[in-house]
Amino acid sequence: MKFFDIVIIGGGLSGSSTALNLSKKGYSVLIIEKEAKRDFVCCAGGMAASTANLISTDINSVIESQVESVHFTWKSTDKVIADIPGKSPFWIVRREELDNLLLQEASKYGASIIRPSEVQSVTKIGEKWHCKLSNETFIKTKFLVIADGSESKWCSYLNLGPKKPKYARTSAIRLEGLGNISKNSVRFDFGSIKYGFAWAFPLKNSLNIGLGTFIGNNEFYNYELIEEILKGFGFRNINIKAKQKKLRIWNGIHNLNADGVLVVGDAASLCDPFLAEGIRPALISSFYASNIIDECLISNTYNLDEYSRVMKINWGLSMAWGKRIAEVFYRFPKTGYNIGIKRKTAPKRIAQILSGEMNYSDIANRVIKRLIFRNHK
Ligand SMILES: Cc1cc2nc3c(=O)[nH]c(=O)nc-3n(C[C@H](O)[C@H](O)[C@H](O)COP(=O)(O)OP(=O)(O)OC[C@H]3O[C@@H](n4cnc5c(N)ncnc54)[C@H](O)[C@@H]3O)c2cc1C
Repeated sequence: MKFFDIVIIGGGLSGSSTALNLSKKGYSVLIIEKEAKRDFVCCAGGMAASTANLISTDINSVIESQVESVHFTWKSTDKVIADIPGKSPFWIVRREELDNLLLQEASKYGASIIRPSEVQSVTKIGEKWHCKLSNETFIKTKFLVIADGSESKWCSYLNLGPKKPKYARTSAIRLEGLGNISKNSVRFDFGSIKYGFAWAFPLKNSLNIGLGTFIGNNEFYNYELIEEILKGFGFRNINIKAKQKKLRIWNGIHNLNADGVLVVGDAASLCDPFLAEGIRPALISSFYASNIIDECLISNTYNLDEYSRVMKINWGLSMAWGKRIAEVFYRFPKTGYNIGIKRKTAPKRIAQILSGEMNYSDIANRVIKRLIFRNHK
């Protein structure tokens, strides 16, 4: 039986960045990934440049665009534009290349990867985890990291994260050319999709298009609607190949660890329930997970409670406001668009959220202060 300090189930963004952080510190790391190769990841690749600080390698080679402005529309009309400040830019990366880059870097530092393979059973014997893989390989580890994304089967088995995960229904489309989206801008279109929105993020010569509905867990796939939205992005008469994905979104503060095991990224239901931002929480969670596992390995302990605590403070509290905002905005989208987006300072605030300058708690605090100030005048 092979032994590793850390075994990671899932080699997407959260798994690969955890693997890189920990292999860089000199630990033995194994990643178990179910796909032989991932040529296309359902992700538009939009990320705040500031989150690159959480990645322990240079990712310049996978940045395809630097976004300077955000364009909002209501059913393709009534445009509102917000500039993204140059000091905190927003990048578009090709996600499959970012994940591969991190896996390659991790393997340079000695991390092993077994793919395609799946874990069939996980058992705790004494202080160690024993995993049986689909090819009858047996592995033993001190720490287990669950990073198997939105379809995670290990979270509920290990009692981590929400008991009943909440899902956004999404579709991802990649098209050649940029349609009518200008090179350094992204587009958010509200009003066409019930309880959600459509987005278009430009790569170098192609466009990542996403459609998502965030309330009600409703199935949605409507060819005519997609055709109409694509028309608004400047594409007509094309063969639409959309990939559908159920995306776990944030649904309350929950325990994300037990002794010797923790969950990161989508598997932990961290994705922003308003804007579907999942890259940042994937990286934040892998950053803290790696640091706390490192501290445990140094002090020869297994208690990872600190992980759930820091994730609550550094992500959960802001998402609690994100969830409230999403519930109001998506239930009353026209009012949301008129007072939320068309309000003079609103686009700037959303641009600041995307660029990582502000979070939902900051916005909520501002609104609360404004209300208190008004009531005392
Ligand atoms: C359409 C769409 C567009 C999006 N656009 C953006 C965006 O522009 N910006 C942003 O910030 N976020 C975006 N997101 C969210 C973002 O893509 C996710 O939050 C992010 O991919 C989470 O990374 P992850 O590593 O946790 O999960 P994943 O990327 O899903 O990785 C999970 C990995 O685990 C593997 N796996 C699964 N099950 C097993 C198993 N049993 N055993 C072994 N391996 C397994 C999978 O093959 C995969 O490689 C978008 C999401 C969608 C659906």
